Amino acid sequence: MTGSSEPTSRQAAQQDITAAETAQQGTAAGQVTQQGAAAGRAAGRAYRIVAMETHDVRFPTSRELDGSDAMNPDPDYSAAYVVLKTDDGHEGHGFAFTIGRGNDVQTAAIATLEPYVLGKDVEDLGALYKEMVGDSQLRWLGPEKGVMHMAISAVVNALWDLKAKRAGKPVWRLLSEMSPEEIVALVDFRYLSDALTPDEALQILRKAEGGKQERMAEIARTGYPAYTTSPGWLGYGDEKLRRLCKEAIEQGFGQIKLKVGADLEDDRRRFRIAREVCGPDFPIAIDANQRWDVGSGIEWINALREFGPHWVEEPTSPDDVLGHAAIARGIAPIPVATGEHVQNRIVFKQLLQAGAISYLQIDAARVGGVNENVAILLLAAKFGVPVCPHAGGVGLCELVQHLSMFDYVAVSGTMDGRVIEYVDHLHEHFVDPVVIRDGRYLAPSAPGFSAQMHAESIAAHLFPNGSVWRDA
Ligand SMILES: [Mg+2]
Repeated sequence: MTGSSEPTSRQAAQQDITAAETAQQGTAAGQVTQQGAAAGRAAGRAYRIVAMETHDVRFPTSRELDGSDAMNPDPDYSAAYVVLKTDDGHEGHGFAFTIGRGNDVQTAAIATLEPYVLGKDVEDLGALYKEMVGDSQLRWLGPEKGVMHMAISAVVNALWDLKAKRAGKPVWRLLSEMSPEEIVALVDFRYLSDALTPDEALQILRKAEGGKQERMAEIARTGYPAYTTSPGWLGYGDEKLRRLCKEAIEQGFGQIKLKVGADLEDDRRRFRIAREVCGPDFPIAIDANQRWDVGSGIEWINALREFGPHWVEEPTSPDDVLGHAAIARGIAPIPVATGEHVQNRIVFKQLLQAGAISYLQIDAARVGGVNENVAILLLAAKFGVPVCPHAGGVGLCELVQHLSMFDYVAVSGTMDGRVIEYVDHLHEHFVDPVVIRDGRYLAPSAPGFSAQMHAESIAAHLFPNGSVWRDA
């Protein structure tokens, strides 16, 4: 590969940031001040993003085995966290979710994207997203997968948080109120056209225009159904499992999920306990977190068939499209679900084309943020597969609720067979935490993407020198 010259967009960004600094008349670069805002207005230009901060934030969840599963026995839920600041005093917050070690790598990857946002606004997030994904040098680290793509997700989502705050609306409503043409312009259709063209996407969105206002009002009134994974972490003992299953039902959840895949006899015992508590018809999904090969997965799942799994999640490698299809055939009619580690829209396309999944599980912070998730929601609608988002992590519930609500209002137009995962961890660290009532996510009403953590939470959990880590 050749080429050491800066992309044009970077040069433009640097020029803009220089102008912004000049406009701030002597204040430090990135410091958001009233004078800066006034200077910006006096110069007759729109606001600009003038600073990007990153933070390595980690929560010591492994101490209680919260979040433990067959492949991830000791996660420390973490956020590679980014804050964008504008010269008129607004902030956009976003993050990539990791489970501890490597969160510093993830944070460093986010920092490489700074030239793409400095000096920019949020008027055309379709173009800005495509610019970042298309960086000819950073793209070598993917393309469109792994640490770099998750970094793009964090920044794209922070831009959406900023856009929604400026608009005075929650992201789900901001997206829902866009026209079909505006929504299609958010999507990168490259590599999708054999499964979904821009025209087909427009048709899906135009069809959903009917009844959109009523659905928006309904979401605001009654929210969106949730299921809970909290009873099912693999590290929890039988009595804790029994108690949490009972509590899930009392709290109004219509579905739970159990982690499986470490030991078959343990899985049978735990599934039996959950069935005893929840009853014969209650939906209980199971999640193997990529534990099995294709053949052993089929055997293991069939050994749990008598307990009636509602779905089997991540039976094998998230990259193994044909393996998922083989498992789906081998365990039919038990449905297969996956998505939380699916790296981009192209793999989702293939999973759908291969008939490999019955439930599609988007993750708000793994693929390229809101924009790529809009593409995936459109793909799912085209193939008629329900979207049941992944949300086990820190802040993922906060983000992904917006996407499901948008899906209901403006894309699929239905909640049939759809539930958003809910885990009861770490919400207290967020300024606008999710609200669950009677087993449903209540619609966020505060402007933004519900992504912002309290400043004190960020400070206390900075790794390795925040008080939570330093004093451990
Ligand atoms: Mg899972």
